[in-house]
Amino acid sequence: MYYFNPIKIKTILRIIKKITLVLTCILSIGFANAAKIAIVIDDIGNNLSDNQLLTLDENLTYAILPHTPYSFIFSKKAAELQRDILIHLPMQATTQNILLGPGALTQGMSKRQYQKTLIAAIEDIPYAIGINNHMGSLLTRLDKPMRWTMELLQQHNMFFLDSKTTVYSKVESIADQYGVNALHRNIFLDNVKKPNVMDIQFKRLINIAQEYGSAIAIAHPYPETYEFLRDNLPLLSSMGIELVPLSQLLPSSKMFNDRIIDNVADDFVKTTATKNNNDSE
Ligand SMILES: [Zn+2]
Repeated sequence: MYYFNPIKIKTILRIIKKITLVLTCILSIGFANAAKIAIVIDDIGNNLSDNQLLTLDENLTYAILPHTPYSFIFSKKAAELQRDILIHLPMQATTQNILLGPGALTQGMSKRQYQKTLIAAIEDIPYAIGINNHMGSLLTRLDKPMRWTMELLQQHNMFFLDSKTTVYSKVESIADQYGVNALHRNIFLDNVKKPNVMDIQFKRLINIAQEYGSAIAIAHPYPETYEFLRDNLPLLSSMGIELVPLSQLLPSSKMFNDRIIDNVADDFVKTTATKNNNDSE
């Protein structure tokens, strides 16, 4: 007959306890260092169907075109969902400027005109914590307009996500001079709306995040993008990737989160004229 030795059992239990502790530490360190990605959905505001992207129960960031038919409704909805909101600011491009839409910033504007237009966009989307450029392949490479932009962003405690529509962009260097937080997107997810191409881009995004700790993608409110994100975002956690609001990739994220909560109580009905915009920049 076999008798349990109480001393042996105690030793075994102690060892199990130690192993559990070590495993917990390893897992918690792993989680704390999880690679982070932020996905910004651009071009929200022109179509009611943009709402589809707002129905995903994922921490996406929404970039809303000012003065568009659904800009206020969708920014309010995104704020209620406690998502990060950006003003998707139309800025002059080198071509196809017919697609800029209302409230665009252009090269020919005086400083007064320029800043007045920018303030009108900020007032139109009061929940926004930052901006990113819609198009802008010309304007973001110009010194003066970028200085006028940063001057206002500094005053409003907002940041700039550079959509990087030109390799000559001066957004980050000028933001730095004004003490304005700036980031840039790493990939466009859906410039080609095919699942296999989006899959390649998504893998690139994950690779960048795993290598550098974080990565930023820009996507658009296309049905194909909705389906792709719906199917693929739930897989991220099993890969050790965390989907975060864009503001979490900023050095001083807390004050931006505070700002979202402060503004949620605002309420008014928007009555801005309709204008179509299909630009994918
Ligand atoms: Zn855009």
